[in-house]
Amino acid sequence: MVSLTEQKQAVYYNYVGGEWTKSSSKELLESRNPATGEFISYAQSSTVRDVEEAIDSVYKAFHHSDWGYNPKRRYEALLGLAQKIEGNLEHLARVLTMEQGKTIRESRIELAGCVDTLKYFAGAARTVFGRSIQLEPNSYGVIAKEPIGVVGIISPWNWPALLMVRELAPALAAGNGVIVKPASLTPGISVEIFKLIAEVPHFTKGIVSIVTGPGRSIGAAMGTSKKIDMISFTGDTSTGKTIMELATSNIKKLALELGGKSPNVVFADANLDKAIPLIGRSIFISAGQICMAGSRLLVHESIKDEVISRLKSYAENLKVANGLLESTDMGPLVSQSQLDLVEEYCEIGRREGKIITGGYRLTGGDYDKGYFFAPTIIDDLSANCRVVREEIFGPVLAVQTFSNDEEALAMANDTDFGLSAGVWTTDLNRAMRMSKGIQAGTVWINTYNKNFPEAEFGGYKQSGLGRTRGIDGLMEYCETKHIHFEI
Ligand code: NAD
Repeated sequence: MVSLTEQKQAVYYNYVGGEWTKSSSKELLESRNPATGEFISYAQSSTVRDVEEAIDSVYKAFHHSDWGYNPKRRYEALLGLAQKIEGNLEHLARVLTMEQGKTIRESRIELAGCVDTLKYFAGAARTVFGRSIQLEPNSYGVIAKEPIGVVGIISPWNWPALLMVRELAPALAAGNGVIVKPASLTPGISVEIFKLIAEVPHFTKGIVSIVTGPGRSIGAAMGTSKKIDMISFTGDTSTGKTIMELATSNIKKLALELGGKSPNVVFADANLDKAIPLIGRSIFISAGQICMAGSRLLVHESIKDEVISRLKSYAENLKVANGLLESTDMGPLVSQSQLDLVEEYCEIGRREGKIITGGYRLTGGDYDKGYFFAPTIIDDLSANCRVVREEIFGPVLAVQTFSNDEEALAMANDTDFGLSAGVWTTDLNRAMRMSKGIQAGTVWINTYNKNFPEAEFGGYKQSGLGRTRGIDGLMEYCETKHIHFEI
């Protein structure tokens, strides 16, 4: 953080009550390009008072407007935002890549995902309906779906545009007011999207705000605020646990999208020509900084050597460089601390297992300016090794071997997490058995990383609470009321 008086560049402001506002704090958050170390932008390092004012403004806008009763307006607002993002996609993609480090191709995919999500939930805004039920000869009930009120969205840095929009869209579609707190490493891309919100006339003034700043102070203030009715949090499982404790203050509703340690289970009958590039992509996309990363490879012993050798060659052929270059396959890690963490896990892997490829920071030339790490595969790890058990959030694949289906299923489920899994087999019965047995919110058969706004996503076990996307994702943001008529 730097002092406001040292500031020479443009600063991102908060958007509160339909106006661009400056924090009362003298501090600023500074974003630097993780590939080059170059300065990108400043954003407000807001105070608890700033966030309380923002919550008040959303509270007033929600309680003193027809937003919650006007689905057509919400449809127009969300569609308007989708069109604005579509029209500015290339600019936003560059901001995202420069701030977060991911490749420009991934940034385009992420922003196209925002457009698709907004369009889906724009339509869904006009389909929020309950049901009626005859209860006695002279009475019936209307089971109504209503907005919850004020929703606080706290989002992470790894897919900062989509993971904000993924929650913003259904929360607004359901008729809520929303306050967003983006991650401190990537405030710029979130505020850029709010600049577009400010240009869409259909949003009720003040119904949606963004306040940037530290999670431990302003995120926590959102967790305890009595004017916030629900927190939608995406981030680390340990932070999710803290949010759960904070939310007890007024028994807030919670939606939690947390960490993962997802397996790719490869059987002897798998189509390896299809599997290898998708398994490689599942762990090396976003330099492994993705919740659904296929970070554990469970492979049948009979094909282990072939699978490892083909994945090794996949990893070694990836071009790791500045994400702005069109030809880059993998960008840098997001920060020095993320780099240190990944190095630490690789040291454990080196001690307790066998490094097949990678395991080190990339250095020399342009690499020295950023946080680049080699795509890494580690074999011969015990089931209890931290590299196998903990979410690393880096380009590190841990390999384990199984000898039969029962063992494969037990290994897939031997984790505290349950976000996603990939199963690779040409045997339909085996695919069915595995998809039923794996305790995860998403099981991909013969593919990976396939996400759609209409298909629910979320975690079993410590990977989360509730579902995002799809009809269930919309319903997370609704209250249910029974209105009883007696005649
Ligand atoms: P993080 O938990 O460190 O931060 C997430 C957000 O919480 C940030 O905005 C941060 O400022 C805020 N925060 C931090 N401490 C807080 C507190 N005490 N009170 C309130 N808010 C607080 O997570 P991260 O490092 O930004 O993101 C990486 C994690 O997110 C990984 O574990 C990853 O698996 C998870 N993730 C999950 C999903 C999913 O859909 N399940 C998607 C992406 C990322």
